[in-house]
Amino acid sequence: MNLFDAIYTRQSVNRADSISVESQAEFCKREVTDGKNVKTYTDKGYSGKNIDRPAFQELLRDIETGQVRRVIVYRLDRISRSVLDFANLIDVFQKHNVDFVSTMEKFDTATPVGKAMLMIVMIFAQLERETIQQRVIDAYSSRSKRGFYMGGPIPYGFRLTDTVIDGVRTKMYEPIPEEAEVVREMFELYASPQTSLGDVARYMHQKQVKKRDGSGFSRGRIRDLLVNPVYVRADYRLYEFFKAQGSNIINTLEDFIGVNGAYLYSGNPETRKTASLEGHTLVLAPHEGLVSSDTWIQCRNKCLNNNQIAKPVKARVTWLAGKIKCAKCGYALSAKIYHCKTKADNRYYLCSNKYNSGGCSFGSLNADAVDSIVFEEMQKKLAEFQTLSRQQEEYNPRTLRLKSRLEEIDREITALLEKIPQANGAVMAYINERVAALDAEKRELYAESVRQEKVGHSVQEISGYLEQWENISISDKITVVDCLIQSVHASEEKIEIQWKI
Ligand SMILES: [Zn+2]
Repeated sequence: MNLFDAIYTRQSVNRADSISVESQAEFCKREVTDGKNVKTYTDKGYSGKNIDRPAFQELLRDIETGQVRRVIVYRLDRISRSVLDFANLIDVFQKHNVDFVSTMEKFDTATPVGKAMLMIVMIFAQLERETIQQRVIDAYSSRSKRGFYMGGPIPYGFRLTDTVIDGVRTKMYEPIPEEAEVVREMFELYASPQTSLGDVARYMHQKQVKKRDGSGFSRGRIRDLLVNPVYVRADYRLYEFFKAQGSNIINTLEDFIGVNGAYLYSGNPETRKTASLEGHTLVLAPHEGLVSSDTWIQCRNKCLNNNQIAKPVKARVTWLAGKIKCAKCGYALSAKIYHCKTKADNRYYLCSNKYNSGGCSFGSLNADAVDSIVFEEMQKKLAEFQTLSRQQEEYNPRTLRLKSRLEEIDREITALLEKIPQANGAVMAYINERVAALDAEKRELYAESVRQEKVGHSVQEISGYLEQWENISISDKITVVDCLIQSVHASEEKIEIQWKI
């Protein structure tokens, strides 16, 4: 039987992911010595994430019936983007004595070195893709893994001080002696079986202990403090406690020497740190803890059994929390509810600067009215943004640049391909290099267009939320508002919105 060379070309739906199938075939043909016995298989509009592609399946059938001598591709990833698929395919090729040639990477599995190199390249290609996806997450977690200060409110009992970890300047906690004493007292009181959170709160009230904002400690606030591992001197008992709860622990058991406090990162911002520890991440912090692990664990377990307090926190009374400011003085407006026996409850916005000396003259605003005005503005803004981006799609200078650059690249590649028949070694090397560079640029532009598409998607997601505004939770509302709005300044005369989009 006459064996033939199989040229396989593939391009995904979005053509910008590689050079055209015609150009790929051009390159492959250069590898063919005997021009007659060639069959070309082309999958247009198929991605490389699996091998469910008609032409590829046909190629496999031809291999299995023993008709194929070599498979030639322009780049390895034309065959498959999955290392696993690829390894299986190489097995099939070997079983049927089919050699494999990739023109771009200069691989020929007719040689043993080619075989080994091939696998290595595929593994690295896969790694690279995974690395890109993971990069953002890694930057965060590798920072936190080494006990770097990750921001956020400073827990009562500590202040920030400068330090250097692994040669990087960062911050760490250091105890404020008076506050640290209060913390120790709270833990000791609550660790005793008869004491309730209410008892601790009353005791602190009698001693006139105040939080930093000048108000007293509520039971809920005390509970939050008692379950925070930032205060514990972490030893093997604490390690076992968190392990048993299903938390990820970054440090090894040897590091739990009964000195360091610990940071707890929640995997999912929706779950409260106090509810379940499963999937949360514990990492030792550079500062010294304040209480023993026995005391800490005792308090923690008591808090968990205390259903009375474990109720969900009362929802914030406005989804404009943190955004709405007084147009007169710039202080935050806070929402207050007035309970009324004869009518429905009323919500008002009051200036938080009202009762300071020389305070603000702002009266009060009906919160429902303000909220609905802001909501309507959000709808309008989003609709405006959508039409604008639809119109701009074709005239947007960035989109235009992207498009014309892609066309330029294709023209240059075609011109280079035309030179192949007369090319000597040096010219061919130049052509290869240039096409590889152009191909790389094309991929980058493709990634850029995917990014642009994603922005469009998130706008669509937001408008989906707006459509069912009454049914979504207040924390979702706050998230949506945060995507759109920088701040809202409100007074009796005007409502001014600073947009993020
Ligand atoms: Zn004010």
